[in-house]
Amino acid sequence: MPHSPNDGAEPKQDNSAGPDASGADLLAAAGYSQTTNTEFYSPIPDGYQKGRHRYLVVLGTVMSGLGKGIFSSSMAKLIKDKGLTVAPIKLEGYLNIDSGTLNPFRHGEVFVLDDGTECDMDLGTYERMLDQDLSKRNFMTAGQVYRDILERERHGGYLGRDVQMIPHVTGEVKRKLRELAMHGDGTKPADIVFVEVGGTVGDYENGFYIEALRELAFEEGPGTVCFVALTYIIEPQALGEQKSKAAQLGVRRVLETGIQPHILACRAQSRITPVVQQKLAMFSNVPLNRVFSMHDRSSIYSIPEDMRQEGLDREILSVLDLHGKVDMAHEDRAREIWTRFVRKLTAPRARHIRLGLTGKYAALRDAYASIEKCVEHCSTHLETNIEIQWIESTDITEDNAPSRLADLDAVIVPGGFGARGVEGKISCVRFCRENLVPYLGICLGFQVAVIEFARNVMGLASANSTEFEPGGPDVVISELPDQKRIEQLGGTMRLGGQDVAVKPGTLAHHLFGGRDLVRQRFRHRYEVEPDYIERIEQAGLMFSGRHPDHPIMQVLELPCTDPTGRGVEHPFFIAAQFHPELTGRPIRPQPLFMGLLAAAIQRKYPDAELPPRWLRQAEGVS
Ligand code: GLN
Repeated sequence: MPHSPNDGAEPKQDNSAGPDASGADLLAAAGYSQTTNTEFYSPIPDGYQKGRHRYLVVLGTVMSGLGKGIFSSSMAKLIKDKGLTVAPIKLEGYLNIDSGTLNPFRHGEVFVLDDGTECDMDLGTYERMLDQDLSKRNFMTAGQVYRDILERERHGGYLGRDVQMIPHVTGEVKRKLRELAMHGDGTKPADIVFVEVGGTVGDYENGFYIEALRELAFEEGPGTVCFVALTYIIEPQALGEQKSKAAQLGVRRVLETGIQPHILACRAQSRITPVVQQKLAMFSNVPLNRVFSMHDRSSIYSIPEDMRQEGLDREILSVLDLHGKVDMAHEDRAREIWTRFVRKLTAPRARHIRLGLTGKYAALRDAYASIEKCVEHCSTHLETNIEIQWIESTDITEDNAPSRLADLDAVIVPGGFGARGVEGKISCVRFCRENLVPYLGICLGFQVAVIEFARNVMGLASANSTEFEPGGPDVVISELPDQKRIEQLGGTMRLGGQDVAVKPGTLAHHLFGGRDLVRQRFRHRYEVEPDYIERIEQAGLMFSGRHPDHPIMQVLELPCTDPTGRGVEHPFFIAAQFHPELTGRPIRPQPLFMGLLAAAIQRKYPDAELPPRWLRQAEGVS
């Protein structure tokens, strides 16, 4: 008999599902379908196979900023290397629907996924570590959860019931997690979903996530969800010893939520002592061999191997009973490639170059996290130290540019919004173009390269972008036609992956490995004004990448052979309307960054032996 929420009857629990049955089995045995409006509303997606997927949950205690994302992505990589399919997700406690409106000063860079999702920069860490493209399924905010529930409520989706934190909000979280498990990496369902809960245990805003995960573990049954509590061991200078009390209290907070962690991962400055390890084990019910030291390392890329050596992956596979799924040959191959990269990353280097990064958030380096990562990958592959000099674009003027930028071997002008600092960026471009300093412009850095060229080469002295001077006489950068149409409706940007048709015979074509079509990620509202394209090209700036069907310019370069006959040979002057830094991966470094840095190395060390793949002198490049 269906159970009505108001009749006061207790659900019948006849245990016919067996002694080890999980909550869902008991509910099914008690006659509850997943869609009835019982107290135990827990929607299960169609086709979901219970027991098919496992979940690894990373919870933070004591303080934020412990590197939950780094822990979770490193572990996911180790597991993926073993031939299993992984799907990471970050659960954000804030009410924003996405990260699009967040200020980089407060939250670091806005990362953009191929499907256009604007998300936390941690998703960049996952993509780089796993070399796997993610989508909106891998990113959840409290705002999204509430929005979906409220929309369903407005459409009568709750059949007259009051909509509650439990079971509806927690149910929604579980549903999304299970959907992600089924989706997996897009090609295969996930063996393990890696769930990173934002914030720390005890925060108000992530409480419903933690409750949802507790329920998930109950419903999925023993051995399906592994909880890792990441904690912090304090080592006050004045005492000179490690203190574990804050960590103990933090883990106790986890226990209060009804969750027994299976693994403790202890962040610390130096390796945690056996005494600390014993105390934590004792007070958290976690066996000693599952309390791990996760002390500081010089590079995040060495963490997966360090975890492996400590045996963390083995313990997790034991908790989740997955040893039988490991493909050892796959693991050996993946490890060899990674180890080679890490060895090169940490090897001493004889060459040293200086790269200037001219942005308006230069004071906050997280705002350019992906650029920094791309540079790190390239410096490894090119075996050269690359020192980044952060330059506030507001400090640069036409007059001081030559002295301020004199000792740079290459310059990047990154993306940005708003007029502040733009004139400084234009001065930087001019300096690089005229002094043959290798230049890479990214998004806004592409647009200012066009403005600079129009002003100083084409003689359009007041050339500008409508973003900075609406209604100006020579708007060489203007709003995208689509944006012009939707602006009144709230407007948004051109976001996510798009195809770029690359012109054969150009430097861009050479760097992209001779491919005529590449996919890149965008986040912009303005573009080269189509009316000026022909004039700009006639004056000697080439658009080597375009949208395949529309007149949207996506890559520009100064060709080696200048069609105006002035014969200037710039070693490297390229800019992209897209964000190349979002798709650079450690093992597959980003081609435009490689080209820029190889050109800079060659300029400083003419005898350096560099892979021709990244150099302009290759045959067929005009
Ligand atoms: N502000 C420019 C635009 O909206 C550039 C954006 C960016 O650099 N991401 O088109």
